[in-house]
Amino acid sequence: MKIGIVGCAGRMGRNLVRAVLAAEGVALAGGTETAGNPAIDEDVAVLVGEPACGLTVGNDPAALLDAGDVVIDFTVPAAVIGHASLAARHGCALVVGTTGLASEQQEALAAAGEVVPVVQAANMSVGVNLLLGLTRQVAAILGDDYDIEIVEMHHRHKVDAPSGTALALGHAAAAGRGIALDAVSQRVRDGHVGSRRRGEIGFATLRGGDVVGDHTVVFAGDGERIEIGHRASSREVFARGAVRAAQWTAGRPPGLYSMRNVLGLE
Ligand code: NAD
Repeated sequence: MKIGIVGCAGRMGRNLVRAVLAAEGVALAGGTETAGNPAIDEDVAVLVGEPACGLTVGNDPAALLDAGDVVIDFTVPAAVIGHASLAARHGCALVVGTTGLASEQQEALAAAGEVVPVVQAANMSVGVNLLLGLTRQVAAILGDDYDIEIVEMHHRHKVDAPSGTALALGHAAAAGRGIALDAVSQRVRDGHVGSRRRGEIGFATLRGGDVVGDHTVVFAGDGERIEIGHRASSREVFARGAVRAAQWTAGRPPGLYSMRNVLGLE
């Protein structure tokens, strides 16, 4: 299986190149970056401190999606529509970890999923996918006598908030209660906002330093508080999960899949 990495010079892109080079039974198909990126024309393996592999960082996603059996996208939301339509056109499976997608970008992934296998997850780690299941379960057991607040912290460079994982945890909690998150979500509190509405699911966002990704779901009741959470200390967990998702697409029928499908949790 040949795996291509779009955005290969990014923080996740570099980890993904390393994970593909380290994985058994897969080969690197190449990598792309935006025009003008200093990594363009550099050997993709040298970029991550490995011996040269003879593939240079390019700027043509069509060529990469033609050469690869599957392409992994951890880039920016604006790039996702183009990659999704190229994946469908070239019959190339797609793994998308990019977060903060707008509805038309999400629709483009669903459309590609009609033609090729597409795996999308806001968080590709095994631990967070377990946390999603636990959050849904705990929310269902406790009901809305317990106030749910989701706290996340990421490094100072992260551009979207709340994180895609925090929102996924919110959806899991809402699903446990049998409601839609949009109806109860409280994403910002500032000024004289009044007391908390019953059933609200609140979010708090912290940014700073080099934090890879911390998430805590708080269930606050009268006289007790339950907290369940996850801390990622290395981006490698996401990269390994993404490569596992890429391998899982082999021979799969078209569809829009989640990491929970990949891990056999659903
Ligand atoms: P980053 O800014 O370090 O890297 C993004 C890279 O994509 C950059 O190098 C940029 O030049 C490149 N890029 C942008 N548009 C492109 C295009 N059209 N073609 C090719 N390359 C393009 O960001 P990051 O920290 O690596 O995060 C990237 C995304 O992955 C974010 O949305 C982040 O939230 C998400 N993320 C997801 C997970 C997960 O497990 N799903 C984990 C970590 C980060």
